[in-house]
Amino acid sequence: MTVFGCRRCDATLTVPVSRVALPVHAGQKYGNGPGSLASALEPGTFAVDPLPFGPPWRRWAELEAGEAEALGWYAPRFVVSTGPVGRVLLAPGDIRGAVVDPALAGDSACCGLDGDEPNMVCVTCGTPVALRIDDCGLRQAIWLNPRTTHVIEDGPGPHPVLDWPDLIEHRPGIAPSEPDGGWHPMWAAAAASALAHLLAASGGDPMAIPDHQVAAVFRPALDRLVSRIGTEPEHTLVLAGPGLPEPDGDFALIPQHPQTGELWPVAAPVKPVPLAWDAWRHLAFHRPAKPVGRSVPIPPEALPEMLPRYRFAPDGRIFLRVLARLPEVAQPRLRAIYDRGSPYGYTFYVC
Ligand SMILES: [Zn+2]
Ligand SMILES: [Zn+2]
Repeated sequence: MTVFGCRRCDATLTVPVSRVALPVHAGQKYGNGPGSLASALEPGTFAVDPLPFGPPWRRWAELEAGEAEALGWYAPRFVVSTGPVGRVLLAPGDIRGAVVDPALAGDSACCGLDGDEPNMVCVTCGTPVALRIDDCGLRQAIWLNPRTTHVIEDGPGPHPVLDWPDLIEHRPGIAPSEPDGGWHPMWAAAAASALAHLLAASGGDPMAIPDHQVAAVFRPALDRLVSRIGTEPEHTLVLAGPGLPEPDGDFALIPQHPQTGELWPVAAPVKPVPLAWDAWRHLAFHRPAKPVGRSVPIPPEALPEMLPRYRFAPDGRIFLRVLARLPEVAQPRLRAIYDRGSPYGYTFYVC
């Protein structure tokens, strides 16, 4: 198990936790409340953000030649962080021995807590150690500051790593539809990230999607991004992964292991397009139940709904953020898509 503590006084700051991959929806802002979004992590787990976060922030225009690429950004951002790497994400219930300090909470948030610097202090020594986030539209989260916290105990945690067959059995994925008929925020994030990877892998070429469930998710957004007028798609997008036959297509949506972050391997020339496990698992194996043994036909409106009622809009901020970190975004066709997306905004302006 891993336990984190205060760098200054070594006081324990977390319950024992197991490492998982950083979900693409960590740090997501979605909708406008009311209230915050559920934590991106299960209790008892933690994830490490490999990117710099927090101050000092640098304006894009002020970066030297080559500096943005060195930081892993290939398309303009409003500002980029040159802060410390390695902040640690926790579910909010897993923190111990730290409290929110109202003096550090700031006033930039709407109804809750937000920011880019610690607002929680170590109860033992008063050092700012963590950032609590619970503002409206944001993921409930605690981010441990890598400058003031560290690992004080390490070992296998409460959640053993599952292999792919165990994942299929024990982690059934998440349905895209919310009870109100809208899309689940995790899906908006997962599909946004996959779309960015698909565009980078395909160079923005038109794409045929034979599986109708996959098409229902990706077709509308892809059509808004990539013109199909006068061109017949030469490439196909299919699913590949554990429990599925060898992919028969040019591009394959493959799962990312939710604990290790490992990608399901596909052999060349098939090009992999990573998708979050919980979305991939649902797309690959969930099929709506077909009513059997009835002599009276069931009207379509009485059948179980497979996909949400609303047109799907991938999370625009996540789409642009993922795309900006892929070197292929420098290709003119992809850069034009990126620039249409208002990279500094909250909305996905691509229609
Ligand atoms: Zn609010
Ligand atoms: Zn301390």
